[in-house]
Amino acid sequence: MTNPYTLEGRTALVTGGAQGIGAAIAKGLCDAGARVFVCDLDADVGKATAEQLGAEFVAADVTDSTSIDAAVDHVVQTADSLDVAVNNAGIVHNHPSEHLSDEDWRRVLSVNLDGVFYSCRAAGKRMLEQGSGSIINTGSMSGHIANRPQPQSAYNAAKAAVVHLTKSLAGEWSDRGVRVNSVSPGYVGTELTKRGMNNDEWRRAWLDGTPMGRVAEPREIAPAVVFLASEAASFCTGTDLVVDGGYTVW
Ligand code: NAD
Repeated sequence: MTNPYTLEGRTALVTGGAQGIGAAIAKGLCDAGARVFVCDLDADVGKATAEQLGAEFVAADVTDSTSIDAAVDHVVQTADSLDVAVNNAGIVHNHPSEHLSDEDWRRVLSVNLDGVFYSCRAAGKRMLEQGSGSIINTGSMSGHIANRPQPQSAYNAAKAAVVHLTKSLAGEWSDRGVRVNSVSPGYVGTELTKRGMNNDEWRRAWLDGTPMGRVAEPREIAPAVVFLASEAASFCTGTDLVVDGGYTVW
């Protein structure tokens, strides 16, 4: 029987792939046999990561639709297809909501929601033309619960929207061969959580709130994405796979 988890012969693009969860996802996709394009705003780190993984690099700022359109065009021109798109670029901003500026609200929504939509649209258009493809958006447990003790309403709202955007696009595109799913991690040890892990109160709340009593390593998120990208998930669309060490059970 053919291995349903293999990605041999597939081309994948990972936004926010330079570091953290995105880099681990890029590695997981490479290990499963895909030709991978690491896509990031940070060209220096992105190129180094791509080189280390035996992947390719393409620069893009996901907040600019022309930039992500061009990155998808580059992948299609270079590799002839785009089979897997992982829309993972994201930022967090922790600030009390009553003092959150318009600019900071917009900045978070712009990367975490606009960026995911622009990336889905760019990849989806191509995948609908070829009649196949798998899109995986990085959501968060923050799309299901409001984190504590740190304030991050813009982030939480954007992630809830990503989960619902995923379902909406799955409803539109699945009968034309394009599956759309999301993966929602709990706390993962990356640059994004460094500030919280260095804060005693936050770290204690995060670990106490996680039944497994620890944060994840980025490599523990990647297999969920590889699964959704592959034929093993051929009947999965519009689903959100929560990988959170149990945080959302309490
Ligand atoms: P990270 O900060 O380590 O990496 C984020 C990457 O995204 C960086 O390489 C950065 O350069 C890139 N990026 C930022 N803005 C961009 C833009 N406008 N265009 C292109 N690339 C851009 O963060 P991470 O922890 O690896 O987070 C990856 C994703 O996982 C994010 O969507 C985040 O919200 C989500 N997430 C993280 C955690 C966690 O605990 N770390 C938990 C749940 C969800």
